[in-house]
Amino acid sequence: MQQKSLTILGATGSIGQSTLDVVRQHPQRFRIEALVANANIAQLAADAREFHARLAVTADPARYHQLRDALAGTGIEVAAGPQAVLEAAGRPVDQLMAAIVGVAGLEPTLAAVAAGNTILLANKECLVSAGELFMARARRHGVDVVPVDSEHNAIMQCFERDNAPAVEKIILTASGGPFRTRPLETLHEVTPEEALKHPNWDMGAKITIDSATLMNKGLELMEAWHLYPVEVEQLDAIIHPQSIVHSLVAYADGSVLAQLGTPDMRTPIAVALAWPERLPTNVARLDLAALGQLVFEPIDEERFPAPRLALETLRRGGSAGAILNAANEEAVSAFLQRRLRFSGIVPLVEQVLEAAERTGGIAALQDIDDVRAADEVGRRLARELVLRMSRAAE
Ligand code: NDP
Repeated sequence: MQQKSLTILGATGSIGQSTLDVVRQHPQRFRIEALVANANIAQLAADAREFHARLAVTADPARYHQLRDALAGTGIEVAAGPQAVLEAAGRPVDQLMAAIVGVAGLEPTLAAVAAGNTILLANKECLVSAGELFMARARRHGVDVVPVDSEHNAIMQCFERDNAPAVEKIILTASGGPFRTRPLETLHEVTPEEALKHPNWDMGAKITIDSATLMNKGLELMEAWHLYPVEVEQLDAIIHPQSIVHSLVAYADGSVLAQLGTPDMRTPIAVALAWPERLPTNVARLDLAALGQLVFEPIDEERFPAPRLALETLRRGGSAGAILNAANEEAVSAFLQRRLRFSGIVPLVEQVLEAAERTGGIAALQDIDDVRAADEVGRRLARELVLRMSRAAE
């Protein structure tokens, strides 16, 4: 068995740690080239030591000395700052796990694409903000993009590429988050603590809030469109509160293929690491008899407008995705800092898109500078709106 070299961007996060846990179970199969993170130096240094990484990088230059001291005497190379992150991502490896949160992950992942590294893609914001550009670069460099997001990983397992014309629909499942049944009129009172408690998945803060608003499903619909050869009209989403069926593909002959499993990201991560082989993991096994039944329901658009907004944004094209993503990142951060109500997150993103459209801010994306500019427009408009809303509430 050939050992694969692996770099992890976002090593200290939820996906990064689950990836290392899978690697921990298969030390003979993987060799860690670089671990990249931002603020959590203690975890980064501990992992670099445990996995004998060749390189450990923090994106924050101010933390360089802390990381260097923590790894003194180990022989592990240490670097810091955004340029060091790009260089780490660009080191040739067999596989690179792209698991930085937010659009901050885009440029490092593009650096990995340019180096020809196979991308295991957790960072959905890359595709939401710059999907066409990203996939075009991957094609140009002959790079495989293997989805890690549980829904897209499920679709990968069910989507018969040779039968693509016979695919009628891709159906993403959504848990519905913690507020699926909460009275609508109380959604404005939701606190960050309540929204950070996901019923099924243990994830980083940003994606947990996105799951509560269902913006996560919106981002995933956009991600699916970039990953699979389907029209926007063929994308669907359905609520499945148990998170057992991870997504489905419906075919013209009436067959519907689904992938099932207990909600544990180590399964899709193991699939991505080994595909098309299967790697044993110690995740809890699915016991359907004990479960008894699988529950599904349609998405209530009044409660959860984000999936509709995402599909409209896909149809709008150009920089609309980057603006939506930036506005959402700002809105989530404002909510977590108690500067925006939970019920204001998705309406704010919609207002930002409307304002951008009105002022001619939505344009074609030619290169990464256009993505940066669109991201800046989305953030500026979102910050202005948060400020205006908080002044109005005073
Ligand atoms: P976390 O918040 O748990 O972790 C984020 C990681 O990114 C941390 O390692 C953090 O470092 C690092 N990071 C943040 N900013 C920077 C930066 N500027 N440069 C380098 N590293 C940085 O996020 P998740 O693991 O939950 O999510 C990661 C991505 O995967 C997201 O795009 C998310 O949507 C996607 N995803 C996550 C799933 C999950 O189950 N968690 C499921 C499917 C997709 P530090 O902690 O040291 O500051």
